[in-house]
Amino acid sequence: MFSAVKLAVMVDGCFWHSCPEHGSRPKSNQAWWEAKIQRNVERDRDTDRALAEAGWAVIRVWEHEPVDSAATRIEALVTDRRGLPRSGNPSRKSGSPSL
Ligand SMILES: [Zn+2]
Repeated sequence: MFSAVKLAVMVDGCFWHSCPEHGSRPKSNQAWWEAKIQRNVERDRDTDRALAEAGWAVIRVWEHEPVDSAATRIEALVTDRRGLPRSGNPSRKSGSPSL
């Protein structure tokens, strides 16, 4: 978590979060796995939505993703969000002196 810029980084396991490249299902008990993994994916979306509503940006990194590729994405978003005006912090200089 990068709390200064409200950025949450999630690392998703390929199997458990149904990665497009490696999200294959086991051959046995297919329906059971399908339901179980589907629930995980839905929970991911809920988490994303809850965070977004609280003003957080969410980056999801796949387990298989190279670290530097993930780092580049995170860095870009951090830079991006640093440029945004802080909503919680009044930025006006008039009034009480700043510390
Ligand atoms: Zn994967």
